[in-house]
Amino acid sequence: MQTENLLDIVKATLRTLQKQNISATPNHYAKEFSRQAAKWRDKIGELKELDTLSSEVFTAHHIKNKKIDTYYELTKELIKLSKVKKLSNLDYFVSSLEELISPSIDHKIDEKIKKIVNQIKDSPDDILEKRTIDKLKIISKERIEQDRQVIKDKTSDIVKLTQLMAKYFDRSLIQSGNSLQEINKIKKELDELELSSTSRRELLLLQNKLIDTIYELGHNLKSSQEELIENQSKFATMQDHIEKLQQDLHNVKKQNNIDFLTGVLNRRAYDVEIEKLENQYQIFNNKYAIIFIDIDNFKIINDNHGHECGDTILKTFANLLNALTREGDIIVRYGGEEFVSIIIYDDIEEVKKYAYRIKKIIEENNFIYKDLKFKITFSAGVAYREKYDCYHTAVNNADDLMYKAKKAGREKIMFDDGFEI
Ligand code: GH3
Ligand code: MG
Ligand code: MG
Repeated sequence: MQTENLLDIVKATLRTLQKQNISATPNHYAKEFSRQAAKWRDKIGELKELDTLSSEVFTAHHIKNKKIDTYYELTKELIKLSKVKKLSNLDYFVSSLEELISPSIDHKIDEKIKKIVNQIKDSPDDILEKRTIDKLKIISKERIEQDRQVIKDKTSDIVKLTQLMAKYFDRSLIQSGNSLQEINKIKKELDELELSSTSRRELLLLQNKLIDTIYELGHNLKSSQEELIENQSKFATMQDHIEKLQQDLHNVKKQNNIDFLTGVLNRRAYDVEIEKLENQYQIFNNKYAIIFIDIDNFKIINDNHGHECGDTILKTFANLLNALTREGDIIVRYGGEEFVSIIIYDDIEEVKKYAYRIKKIIEENNFIYKDLKFKITFSAGVAYREKYDCYHTAVNNADDLMYKAKKAGREKIMFDDGFEI
């Protein structure tokens, strides 16, 4: 290029800048110079070189060619490009792409994702292309849609299962009666429960577990029911045993109080019974008389006819006394051939009448042993409780009176008020 032409361009550049009132800084100057030199552009080597360089940069970066007038502008563009693109990270991004876009919940779409990821891995630059980006957009949209459907299906399956479980707890645990039937019904329902195909893989396991659990619950319930029934019958048997034992105990207690030979109360019972009567006397002033009765010359019967004969007579004697004594009054075998009768009365006449009656009936009665007949008499002492400070004194006095009757010739009843039969 000729120097005059170059000078003309320089002059025109400076003139224009001056006219536009722009100061001729290196940047403004270079820009205006490039403009003024436009018609000689092909002839100025540096400008041609600038055009080639800028076009190479833009092509390399897939950018539409921009108008570049100065090296300064080209430098600025290059700086911008390196900042924006960080092209060195592209490889890393591509290698992580699979991880970034998968996995999907719906595995049906895995293949598609793999395909596009491999494609981008083969030519990483493709990722910057609209075509590839659009494809990725479609896949991700599809993936979101599919995943949403899977979640919907699974949720509804879980709801179905939990509803069924709730039904189970409601029905079988609250109603205990026919729960076994209910469990079997629910087990069947669970077997028949239609799960969506997307849930099969995960929920089938859960469904089987639930069936097992329900089976086990049913089984346990059945054995508990059987156990309960068994225990109930055991309990009933035990109750029978207890009742029988109670009855036995009652009988033993009663036997403990009864004289085995004569069947009337024994000495042990006497201690208890007289205390009861004493209490009633203390509280309600229920009066009673104590009568000591001893068979006369009983030893002779034993000696002459044997002990067995004596036993028979003792039994008959006790039976007669018992028969002549009112309910509520007491006949006790005090020992050997000695008896005590305790008579409750309002009027002492009642006691006298009683004493008279037993004396009469015993003496009129024939005591029979085998083919032998005996006449029996007794001696007795009577004390009225109300005459003494304590009942022991009354008892002792009745005993003393009985001995007095013996001494006075037997076959007598002596009262502590001096009366005598
Ligand atoms: P008393 O008129 O003085 O009472 O004379 P007793 O012979 O009745 O009195 P004693 O005390 O001398 O004798 C009582 C007899 O009673 C002696 C005893 O062998 C007899 N005896 C006591 N208990 C039984 C018994 O359970 N069975 C028989 N068979 N005899 C008995
Ligand atoms: Mg006697
Ligand atoms: Mg005696």
